[in-house]
Amino acid sequence: MLNDAHRRILEKSKLFRHISIDSIEDVLAECPVYQLAAGDILIEPEQDNHAVYIVLDGGLSVQLVGRDAFEVSSLGPGECVGEISMVDGQRPSARVRASEPTSVLVLGHPALWTLLNRSHGVAFNLLWILSGRMRDHNKALEKTRTRSLEFEHAASVDVLTGLHNRRWLDDSFARMLRRCANDSRPASLLMIDIDRFKTFNDTWGHLAGDAVLRHVARQMSAHLRPTDLMARYGGEEFSALLPDTSREEALAIAERLRNGVEWASLTLGENGETVSVTISLGLAEAHAGETLEEVVGRADEALYRAKENGRNRAETAA
Ligand code: GH3
Ligand code: MG
Ligand code: MG
Repeated sequence: MLNDAHRRILEKSKLFRHISIDSIEDVLAECPVYQLAAGDILIEPEQDNHAVYIVLDGGLSVQLVGRDAFEVSSLGPGECVGEISMVDGQRPSARVRASEPTSVLVLGHPALWTLLNRSHGVAFNLLWILSGRMRDHNKALEKTRTRSLEFEHAASVDVLTGLHNRRWLDDSFARMLRRCANDSRPASLLMIDIDRFKTFNDTWGHLAGDAVLRHVARQMSAHLRPTDLMARYGGEEFSALLPDTSREEALAIAERLRNGVEWASLTLGENGETVSVTISLGLAEAHAGETLEEVVGRADEALYRAKENGRNRAETAA
C-alpha cells in the first residue's frame, strides 16, 4: 500500500508528471512495493525484465558491467528504471542495485499498459523519459570520444617539448614517406642532435638541460614549413621529415635550422647568463622504395659525420 509520503513522491515523479494520482490510484494500488536492502540487485543484465520500477525512497545505482563495473548514474526518489527493456522486450544492458535501503513501486507489464491506455499523459511522460535517456547516452558517447581523443593525443606527444614523440613519428613519417613515393615526389629526412649536451647537463644541471631541449625544439619548429613534420626522436635527438623536398632544398633548410638555433640565445640561471647551443644535422633524401628505417639509417650516418667533422654543421648522405 502507498503511504502519504510515497504518494507525494509519485506526484512529483517523472512518469506521473502532471497526472492526478487519484485518477490512477486503483491501478497503483495493485502494484507491489519492493523493499531492497543496500546492495540488493533489482535488474541484472542478461536477465529478462518485466517491470518499470519507480524509486519511492532510498536510491539505486545503475552500473555498466563490462571488464569492470562502473556506475553510470544514480537514481533517487521519483526516478524510474527498467523502461527501456520493458518497452523493447529485450534484456537490460545495465545492472541496477540498491545503494541504500530502498523502496520501489513495481509497475508490471499489465499495470503499465493499463496506465498507457488510460492516460496519454503517462504515455507522453514515458516518451519524455526515453528521450532523456537517449540524450544522456549521446552525451556519454561524446564524453567517451573526447576522452579517447585526449588519450590518443597524450600518447603521441612528448610532454617535455610539446613535439610529437617517437611513437607518432614511426607511424606518421612512414605514411608520409609512402605517400611521397607513390606520387613520385621527393622527400628528405633530417636527424638532429644537440652538440655536447652531456657537458651542458653536467655544468648547468638537468633542469637547465630540459629548458635547452624545449628551446631547441621551439627554435627548430619556428624554422620549418607547415607541411614539414618534426618529432623528438629520443633524448636530445630530433627528426624532421620534409615532404616535396630534394636533397639541395633540404640542405638549405638544415642550414636554416642550424643557424636559427646557433643565434637564438637562451638565458639561464639566477644571474640570467646567456648560453648558446648548437646542433648537428644529418640529412638523406629518400630513395625510391626505401623504408623509413633505411632513410633514418643513412641520415644517422651523415649525422655521425657532422659530429666527426667538428659539430654545428650539416652533412648529407650519398
Ligand atoms: P655529442 O655532441 O657527441 O652529441 O655529445 P653529447 O654530450 O650531446 O652526446 P651524448 O649522447 O653523450 O649525451 C646526450 C645527453 O643527453 C646524455 C643525457 O643525459 C642527455 N639527455 C637525454 N635526454 C635528456 C632529457 O630529457 N633531459 C636532459 N636534461 N638531458 C637529457
Ligand atoms: Mg645523442
Ligand atoms: Mg648530442
